Amino acid sequence: MAKVIMDSTAMQRALTRITYEIIEQNRGLENLVIVGIETRGAYLAQRIAQRIAQLEGSQLPVADLNITNYRDDRPNKSASITAKIDLPITGKNIVLVDDVLYTGRTIRAALDAIMDSGRPQKISLAVLIDRGHRELPIRPDFVGKNIPTSHEESIKVMVNEVDSLDQVVLD
Ligand code: 5GP
Ligand code: MG
Repeated sequence: MAKVIMDSTAMQRALTRITYEIIEQNRGLENLVIVGIETRGAYLAQRIAQRIAQLEGSQLPVADLNITNYRDDRPNKSASITAKIDLPITGKNIVLVDDVLYTGRTIRAALDAIMDSGRPQKISLAVLIDRGHRELPIRPDFVGKNIPTSHEESIKVMVNEVDSLDQVVLD
């Protein structure tokens, strides 16, 4: 049965807290670039950048990343790999943003895509939901909420920009 685990207030609070943590750990902010993994991670990345602008008055660069072609379990591994970040990232501190962290394979692929686009000084990871079941040595630096799940369950993340509401549901 579907269960709401974050309503819009909880989601916004979590994003605000993550934003404060990012600001705290990146004194200065001038080297920071926010990279959101498409689709919903990209909207969350925009939200975090907007909050940083409201709180600190600096508009950080935000890039979207589509890593479909980098996943190690993609059907056709010889398919052309095109994911690139269209911003200068060499020497930058990147905060990678995604909606849900599960096995870690998407993040591994995102790290590959980033490294192919330049040489950042540091990469950290922010996720709205960590649902567990990692298959790689990857862990988030900033987490909205830890939701222990079974493999059979799934988390539905809805964001206002595409779903017309902010809500996280466990299915
Ligand atoms: P992973 O690569 O860590 O196994 O899975 C993470 C990626 O798959 C994320 O980009 C996330 O959007 C998607 N994903 C994995 N599990 C879920 C889930 O339960 N709910 C949602 N909304 N996305 C998931
Ligand atoms: Mg995704």
